[in-house]
Amino acid sequence: MSEKLAKTLMILLAVFVAAALIFVGYKTGIIGFGCAPAPQEQADEGMIVPKAPQAGLLSAYFIDVGQGDSMLFVSPSGKTMLIDAGEVVYSRRVEKFLRQAGVDRIDLLIGTHAHSDHIGAMPYLIERFPVGAYVTTARNVESISSDMVSEALKEKRVSIAQVWCGDNIEWDDACRITVLSPVLGCEYSELDANDGCLILRVEYGETAFMLTADATVHAEQLAMFHNEKALFKADLLKVAHHGSTSSSSLGFVETVGAKTAVISVGADNLYGHPDADILRLLSGTGAEIYRTDERGSIAVFSNGSGLEFAFQKPQK
Ligand SMILES: [Zn+2]
Repeated sequence: MSEKLAKTLMILLAVFVAAALIFVGYKTGIIGFGCAPAPQEQADEGMIVPKAPQAGLLSAYFIDVGQGDSMLFVSPSGKTMLIDAGEVVYSRRVEKFLRQAGVDRIDLLIGTHAHSDHIGAMPYLIERFPVGAYVTTARNVESISSDMVSEALKEKRVSIAQVWCGDNIEWDDACRITVLSPVLGCEYSELDANDGCLILRVEYGETAFMLTADATVHAEQLAMFHNEKALFKADLLKVAHHGSTSSSSLGFVETVGAKTAVISVGADNLYGHPDADILRLLSGTGAEIYRTDERGSIAVFSNGSGLEFAFQKPQK
């Protein structure tokens, strides 16, 4: 090899190595070029600015807990109710959300059923917030998560109430919370906690929220058979089981007749939720669909005659 060729090869190699270093530096964020987008702040993912309690306003927050459910309600007088809390990995996110909402006490904690994507984060929250009372389904199926919740409640001496269809849950005089499922005397699966989970209706003024947790089609049918039809009418439907086909029969969705459907679901989840058939069915009833995997946490404000919405992420 001539000296000139060797020199040329060395220069080419140096240029190649420099280009590779710049590329890796840019990709990893070590090197920036003015207009490069700022990295997303992971720590605040799932956050939305909650409103302070306001006279005449019921606030409801569907907290983005990935593949799971967690809903915070704040009554016009400032009473708080947390329904489910997501998986244990979302414990801190839910705590932070509650603190940002000015919550320093959970007046009513509700566990809809024993699955970890609904109650996994509860022991952490029970340790950190005073809890007024805990309510769960009378058809509870045992699980490690529910054992841990019971243990945490026992330690903090929080009372546990198990409710059936027909019970009203006491929370705030301005709101009525009706239990529509499970129905006493009906058969529910001993193995599938979704079957016997709570279906709740929260009513404030002329507005109502239908909260279905992960209730199965079987549970929907039993609930409709044993309750007045008028009790299912709602402005907003929290779609059951993250949009799975195991729930949300056409009859049920039509009976609720909600203009808005909220799906609490994780992006790219292993189950393929929400199912395309359920999305079609909901759209077919004319409902506007909001998903936590697309919009992040979702806030809903009721003034007693209508609903207003706010989202963590803008629509793409
Ligand atoms: Zn679930």
